[in-house]
Parts: sequence; C-alpha cells; structure tokens
Amino acid sequence: MWYYSNRTSAIAGAAIVLLTGGCGARASAPGSAPANAPTMSVAATLAQSPVPKFSGTQAFDVLKKQVAWGPRVPGTPPHEIELKYLQSEMQKYANTTVLQKFTYRNLPITNVVGVFYAAKRSTPSRHPILLMAHWDTRPVADGPYSTATAAGPFLFGPHGWNRTDPIPGANDGASGVAVLVELARIFHKDPPPVGVLLLFDDGEDYGDFRANNGKGEGVVLGANYFATHYRQNPVFGAPAFGILLDMIGGKDMRIYPELNSVQFDPDLNQQVFQIAKSLGYGNIFRTDQSQDVEDDHITMNEQGEISTIDLIQPLPGPGALPGAYKQWHTVNDDVAHCSAMSLKAVGSVVTQLIYQQSP
Ligand SMILES: [Zn+2]
Repeated sequence: MWYYSNRTSAIAGAAIVLLTGGCGARASAPGSAPANAPTMSVAATLAQSPVPKFSGTQAFDVLKKQVAWGPRVPGTPPHEIELKYLQSEMQKYANTTVLQKFTYRNLPITNVVGVFYAAKRSTPSRHPILLMAHWDTRPVADGPYSTATAAGPFLFGPHGWNRTDPIPGANDGASGVAVLVELARIFHKDPPPVGVLLLFDDGEDYGDFRANNGKGEGVVLGANYFATHYRQNPVFGAPAFGILLDMIGGKDMRIYPELNSVQFDPDLNQQVFQIAKSLGYGNIFRTDQSQDVEDDHITMNEQGEISTIDLIQPLPGPGALPGAYKQWHTVNDDVAHCSAMSLKAVGSVVTQLIYQQSP
C-alpha cells in the first residue's frame, strides 16, 4: 500500500455529497436495516444468528504459504503461482469465480473475484458486500526504514523499475489475502446472510506512487480496473459497501480510523470499530487517534462509487502513530513480523459484520 494522502481537506467539500450517497447505497441493500441506525446493530444482532468462528491459525498458514513462494511481483513465477492458487481456492469455495485480466507495460495483471451468493439463493446478490485486498507485492524495498535500496529517483529501467530488492510482502499483500481466503472457507461451509464479493486485486503496489504530481504511475492498477469495469458484469451487482484489508497482520498491530474512509462512510467506519470493541479487540482497533492513507479504497469510492473503507496498520516514518509497521516496504516485511492473533482480530470483526446483516 501507499503513502499518507493529505487529501482529506481537499475532499471535505465532496464528502458532504458522498456521505448522503454512501448511506443511501448501504440502506438500499435488500431488506437491510437503515444505515443511519448503527447504534442498534451490534448489541441487538449479536444474538440474532450464530456467527462462525474465524481461525487465525488457518489464516496465518495462508500467509506463510504465500511468503514461501517468494515476492509476488507481476511478471514473475511466484506471481503466477499465487494467481493459480487464488483461482483454485475461489473455484473450490465461491459460487462463481471471475478473472479480470489486462496488461500494464506488457505485464499480466489479474484481479480474481469470488462471488458468494446469499444463503439459500441460487443467483448473485444485487447488492453484495465487497471485501478486498491486493495480492501483488512491491518490487522494490523503498520504505523509510529500508536499508536495502540505493537512493535516487524511482524510474523505469530496461527490466522494470530501477531498484532490485523486492519485499516478501507478509503484511503488505499476504495478510489481507490470508483473511479473505479464510473467509471464503467460512462462506462455503456456512453461507452468509447476504451476498459477498471477495476481490483479490492485482498491481496495487507495482509502480511509482509519487509520479505525475502524486497521482501515481503503475499503482492501484487492479482496483482502478475493477472500479471502472465492474458495472459491465451483472454477476457483481452494485455492491452495497466495501471494506479494504491492507496490512492487517503485523505483530502488536493497531488500527486507527482512516480519515478518507471516515469521510466516505462514517457509519460503516463507526460500526466496524464498535464491533471490534464488542468482541474485545479495542486494544487493536483504537479510536484515540486517526490516520490518513491513500490506498485502493479511494478509487473504489471515486471511480467505482462504492462506499469503501480501509483497515490498515499505520505507516512508519516521522510522526508515525503508535503501532506503525516499521517493516513497511522493506525486505523485513516477513512472517516473523506478523501474527495469527492480528489476522484473527480483523477476520473476526469482518465475520461478525457480515453475519449480522439482515438477509
Ligand atoms: Zn505496499
């Protein structure tokens, strides 16, 4: 994932419109409770239906498996291995699997989408919930605590980018995927009350985030593609809302409300943090501070018009929040710096949110 956005003041004006749209979009899920009544949701619905248990251990196995393949950089063999894995997992668990394939500078980029129907339904939901994570990993270790890279401009070279140390991507890449794959197993065994899309998006972390005056070049490729193409495939419906999981597996992790997310969908954001507290994860999901991050969720809101929030461990660097992931974009973003407990916390919160939805 990428940098602090500093864009929340810029989108403040637009947010007024988006907030209205966001609430409306969520409320339009078939038969769902009004989105403007989040306070009733947690306590009242906890007793409603049994919520499956999320296994942090199984998710951690999926994290380790990916890291063992090597960096999943587009155009490399580990990237192909992971693509086959995600495709076969979704074919095993989802009702429908869709691959969105395209190229960027001749590199193959592929989004994998698992479509899960609501329980007792034989057709896709019109307003599924979107859960997403990027599955590619960064080709260069250019984080603020990286010791592995040469200084200098970030430019295209004859073989891609001009730095040569790819990151293992245990937290940045594998963690979000691990939680989504474990959720797929759960949905298959115990179909959710509402339809769900699991979007494994590719090419988030490939290029230069600072190019084009901060607009980026070669980044957020898969999320942009989904945001601008999903309407062409009726199997995706019009997602009611979305949650992006990016770097949610770090040891001693904390997650703070992300300011763009809060502006895009305050109710959803509040609901997630309330659920975390109710499940005993208030030590991880903290509301005493906030962060401001540019990530896949921006295009989902702006191009895709899907109200989407980002759950992410804070980025390191000057002025970083407590619980920041120092190994971000370094060769030390490895299994040793991740934990099954963190995956379990985030997976359990998302599971609770899904199974407390009204059919
Ligand atoms: Zn990243």
